[in-house]
Amino acid sequence: MARPFAKMDFMNTQTLPYNVQAVRADFPILGQEHHPGVPLVYLDNAASSQKPLKVINALDDYYRRYNANVHRGIHKLSEQATAAYEEARIKIKRFINAASKREIIFTRGTTESINLVAQTWGRANLKVGDVVVSTVMEHHSNIVPWQIRAAEKGFTIRYIPVLPDGTLDLNAYAALLRDENVKLVTVMHVSNMLGTVNPVVEMAQQAHAAGALILVDGAQSTPHMSVDVQALDVDFFAFSGHKMCGPTGIGILYGKRDLLEAMPPWMGGGDMISRVTLDGSTWNDLPYKFEAGTPIIAGAIGLGYAVDYLSELGMDKIHAYEQAIAAYALERLAEVPGITVYGPDADKKGAVAAFTLDSVHAHDVAQILDAEGVAVRAGHHCAMPLHEHFGVPATARASFYLYNTFAEVDALIEGLYKAKKAFA
Ligand code: PMP
Repeated sequence: MARPFAKMDFMNTQTLPYNVQAVRADFPILGQEHHPGVPLVYLDNAASSQKPLKVINALDDYYRRYNANVHRGIHKLSEQATAAYEEARIKIKRFINAASKREIIFTRGTTESINLVAQTWGRANLKVGDVVVSTVMEHHSNIVPWQIRAAEKGFTIRYIPVLPDGTLDLNAYAALLRDENVKLVTVMHVSNMLGTVNPVVEMAQQAHAAGALILVDGAQSTPHMSVDVQALDVDFFAFSGHKMCGPTGIGILYGKRDLLEAMPPWMGGGDMISRVTLDGSTWNDLPYKFEAGTPIIAGAIGLGYAVDYLSELGMDKIHAYEQAIAAYALERLAEVPGITVYGPDADKKGAVAAFTLDSVHAHDVAQILDAEGVAVRAGHHCAMPLHEHFGVPATARASFYLYNTFAEVDALIEGLYKAKKAFA
């Protein structure tokens, strides 16, 4: 049986930065039953977060009151939509402390942002003999775009290994950077499986000292901690709206202005041009050069409201709250006989716990948990090379967000004991 006193023991030593019940009231979905009589315990936040009323209402308001295309119409609705779309860009610029709103490109998400850089900067700058340094822990969206480009341009990709504790081998990184052919380092800020927080400030300094640029996949950091792209001094930074209380289908590519200015466009079409003749075209200014066609207007506006929501709660408070939940979850998970939790200790990781349980397959674990109302993810989490590295085909993953409670951690643990019993 799970220890009944664990929660109280833990909470006596913690001061929580906000009242989570008040926060939960902002998220209508969290109040519903997963099955009749079984409350929803949503622990699949690394895949996608839930949305607060502020965001849901913003989408509703846009479609009800001022739905129109942006940048094109002279009429009032189009002006309103354009103002809201551009206001969202400014909110995001402030949220990540970019130097200029021109450095904020709206995309469909992290995947598209990384593909944009691989397709445009990669096509223009990488050639045979060049090296791109990535890591074994990357999400597929930061491996495959480079493989596709490498197959066409003939450069080499080298991977920083992962140590047994789930951190990067930084000695190996330093050694890789001794090769003067390294043109780009592309690394995740926080691992979506291990939760490892990579030292991107130091990694950026080292990359720059070696004459390389650095791209950071911020999909799992931006929702959970304060991000300052100037303090990080990264060249490109990618993230997704849907993991940070925003809608699906919207994300951001941040890039330093001089780099974006020099990059050729990617998709051609409306809005990204300055002038089109039948013989050729010239390009619009940043950021529009990279935003061809009708953009994701409602998504961008919704993301702006998500950023408002997170900022009002406070990113530092959110981070502190999640650290407390994650520490408790790791402590409780460690009690479960036969469990292996992957990744570093609580103080070095985000609020993610990927684990295997004896011989129970991760999908069976997830299915039994689902019957108990607990939503987790099972599989390779788009990190097949990392799973291969740890010698497991799949893990179950519980990932937490600003609205999860200690009682929900207890529900997860109880569900795991049920899974063990069912497969004993
Ligand atoms: N990188 C990481 C670390 C992720 O966790 C994810 C989403 N699972 C992605 C990239 C891809 O994000 P999206 O599917 O929103 O493009």
